[in-house]
Amino acid sequence: MSIATAPSPSVALPGGRSDLVVVGAGIVGLAHAVEAVRRGLSVTVVERDRRPVGASVRNFGHCCITAQRGDLLGLAERSRAGWLFAAARAGLWAPEAGALVVARSATELAVLEELRDERGADAVRLRTRDEVGTALGRAADARDDLVGGALLPADLRVNPREAAPRLAQWLAEQPGVTVAWGTNVTGVEQGTVHTSRGPVHGEQILLCVGHDLDRLYPAEAEAHGIERCRLSMARVEAPAAFRTDAAVLTATSMLRYDGFTAMPSAGRLRTEVTGHSPELLDVVANVMFTRLPDGTVLVGDSHAYDATEIPFQDEATTELLLREAARVLGVRDVRITERWQGVYASSANGPLLVRDVAPGVRALSVTSGIGMTLSFGLAAATFDGALHATA
Ligand SMILES: Cc1cc2nc3c(=O)[nH]c(=O)nc-3n(C[C@H](O)[C@H](O)[C@H](O)COP(=O)(O)OP(=O)(O)OC[C@H]3O[C@@H](n4cnc5c(N)ncnc54)[C@H](O)[C@@H]3O)c2cc1C
Repeated sequence: MSIATAPSPSVALPGGRSDLVVVGAGIVGLAHAVEAVRRGLSVTVVERDRRPVGASVRNFGHCCITAQRGDLLGLAERSRAGWLFAAARAGLWAPEAGALVVARSATELAVLEELRDERGADAVRLRTRDEVGTALGRAADARDDLVGGALLPADLRVNPREAAPRLAQWLAEQPGVTVAWGTNVTGVEQGTVHTSRGPVHGEQILLCVGHDLDRLYPAEAEAHGIERCRLSMARVEAPAAFRTDAAVLTATSMLRYDGFTAMPSAGRLRTEVTGHSPELLDVVANVMFTRLPDGTVLVGDSHAYDATEIPFQDEATTELLLREAARVLGVRDVRITERWQGVYASSANGPLLVRDVAPGVRALSVTSGIGMTLSFGLAAATFDGALHATA
């Protein structure tokens, strides 16, 4: 499978002034461009590559809504509506399939029950062992390690290989929108973006360049503690009976997302996983998988943090993740068809970087690995003035 081809890169830069210039054609930039179009604004999107190849096409395509908490939950819920709007306009695959959290111990199930008690039985639908087994495509006599699980129906799925390229294509077809590919931004000042193809002018400028903010505004990136988080991913052939479009999450996912980690049994779960699978915690694993429309499955992931990412992918980490995914699927092994490394912006200092770096110039990076989830919520909040910059 290849990433959908983006529109021609030879689009001329607009000579006039757009209402908004967005730098970066990842999902954060594109969601803002879609929201701007929705509000009748003219937009220029400037992207250094010839098509989206960043974090936004390398992920699971999981809009992980229910597992968020606090302000991020509100943004995620808002984002869901934005995704559905954009999917309808741009013709994206976006099934409202939810997420299935698999419980393989009483402690894992306890976390899910506690989340159900907090959010209600509609938002967190507990599932029996057999319901989970059936959803995973496991034979009736191969479910002994399953205890139960929960369906989180609000979660959305998209195809990460398709979403950003197709949104960019849809945007380029809208009046008042230019998408300039192969155009590297070298500097920004009030009203002007300097690029490798000349200046682009805009009333407002939004920098959605993820971790690469440290190339344009190193001091701002350092002040927020931006690092690069590197993740191991693989695409595998699906076992024939595995058919669900729901994202499948496991115990290590429950150690990752705030919605789960705030539950009373989460501490006990960490102790339990430390006892039986310390190697998963060593690579900061979030063992999860999602099925693409062609039936293949995206499997990941691990997390390694550094200012500049190491380019070498550790085979042992990929094998560990695949072994664990195979266990959850109830198969002996899975056949890999692709491997890759994803990189996203991360920070220990907060989930979002929102900084006004010059008059009319805002930098916005998601620094918590949930940019697919938050993108459209952030865009709506930006235009409503509800997203406040930190000093
Ligand atoms: C393996 C993996 C799994 C993930 N899973 C999930 C998930 O299931 N759910 C979820 O919500 N999130 C997930 N994420 C996180 C999510 O993918 C990111 O948070 C999100 O894609 C960030 O979007 P972005 O637009 O900021 O970044 P990007 O997609 O990286 O886009 C930034 C763009 O800016 C461009 N750019 C940079 N510098 C310049 C410049 N100087 N001039 C012009 N253009 C420039 C880049 O070329 C790039 O296209 C995952 C990430 C990875 C890597």
